[in-house]
Amino acid sequence: MSKELKSATKCIHSGYKAENGDPRVFPLVQSTTYKYDTADELGDLFDLKTEGHIYSRISNPTVAVLEERIADLEGGIAAVATSSGQSANLLAILTLCKQGDNILALSNLYGGTVSLFTHTISRYGISVKFVDINADEKEIESEIDENTKLIFGETIGNPGVDVLDIEKFADLAHRNDIPLVIDNTFATPILCRPIEFGADIVTHSTTKYIDGHARTLGGVVVDSGKFDWKNGKFDELVLPDESYHGVSFVESFGEAAYSAKARCTFVRDIGFIMAPFNAFLTTQGIETLSIRIERHSENALKIAKYLEANDIIEWVKYPGLKSSPSYELSQKYLKGGSSGIIAFGVKGGVDAAKKFIDSLEIISLVTHVADTKSCVIHPASTTHRQLSKKQLEKGGITENLIRLSVGIEDVEDLIDDIENALSQI
Ligand code: PLP
Repeated sequence: MSKELKSATKCIHSGYKAENGDPRVFPLVQSTTYKYDTADELGDLFDLKTEGHIYSRISNPTVAVLEERIADLEGGIAAVATSSGQSANLLAILTLCKQGDNILALSNLYGGTVSLFTHTISRYGISVKFVDINADEKEIESEIDENTKLIFGETIGNPGVDVLDIEKFADLAHRNDIPLVIDNTFATPILCRPIEFGADIVTHSTTKYIDGHARTLGGVVVDSGKFDWKNGKFDELVLPDESYHGVSFVESFGEAAYSAKARCTFVRDIGFIMAPFNAFLTTQGIETLSIRIERHSENALKIAKYLEANDIIEWVKYPGLKSSPSYELSQKYLKGGSSGIIAFGVKGGVDAAKKFIDSLEIISLVTHVADTKSCVIHPASTTHRQLSKKQLEKGGITENLIRLSVGIEDVEDLIDDIENALSQI
């Protein structure tokens, strides 16, 4: 079929075909190792002359199914699945940066990513500069220097739910010969395909909507195959790599140079590939991703409207609300819905926020977001607790901010639960 398949079909059928040609057969290859007939056959694999699996710390057939499906859904050419979303973002950066380099990150990111950038990678000589997503382009560009290797943003920020102007940041990155890396966790490829708007690398915490059931940790890095690594800034992808007996990733892998380097060096050395069983469960999650996202978005819009009309609510942020500062961007970047995450503040500050959370009965208090079951959290005292006051302010995380992740339950039940909890304040 020459026509591009729709997302709902791709979620189920894309990528993988079993050896017998039946796409319904989906084996869990729970094995560390693979047997070869001759020493030369294995030697050729090690030399990257032929494709195949050497050892499950580098690749695995079940993990490859998931990687192909996500790459296809995102419109990329290859993907590398990792043990968590954190390791996916770390991998995306390590593949391009070394000691002395720096990255430009937007200030509204998930707290764990801010910690990774601020406290961990900086210890190893990769520094980070945070810029406001609404900052003037000239101001942002003035932060880029010859050692800046990438710009990093989230399609929908966690927890402030601002939608990123991906095209603006892609142009800005490309004007400066660097790639744009987008964490697309909250939007998923069902609502937004950042590569179509100029992003070069896309990451996910598959732990969230992609798995969708709060069962399986995982992450993925998708390579668009579009960035010109030969522009003089990324020698490590072009020059012979001593850690892989002198391979030039650009010469050997062409447009897939980035994902090949990610797998053959960092995934191999650090060992944070996704486990086969996690890939098996996550691939199962993908099959229902498109209908789940439709329902999450539908429910969330109804609840956001309900909250907005309620006097006890101080403010509501949801990209699908006309009153949202991100509404226009949501119409451009999010197709078919605005996902399931709402940020709002109740009148009465932090005590009222906590009373509301403690009074919920169906919506559970968990350290998670983006799965079938509705959940809630108070980011300032939990997921973003390690951030300084200034960082919280920059990320738009007020003391009374409640992050509500709307699930796929009956929306009337959820509204009843919220109404009852609000009445307890
Ligand atoms: N990126 C975003 C946007 C997230 O919300 C999270 C976790 O909440 C992560 C990355 C990290 O993912 P994980 O918990 O799978 O390591």
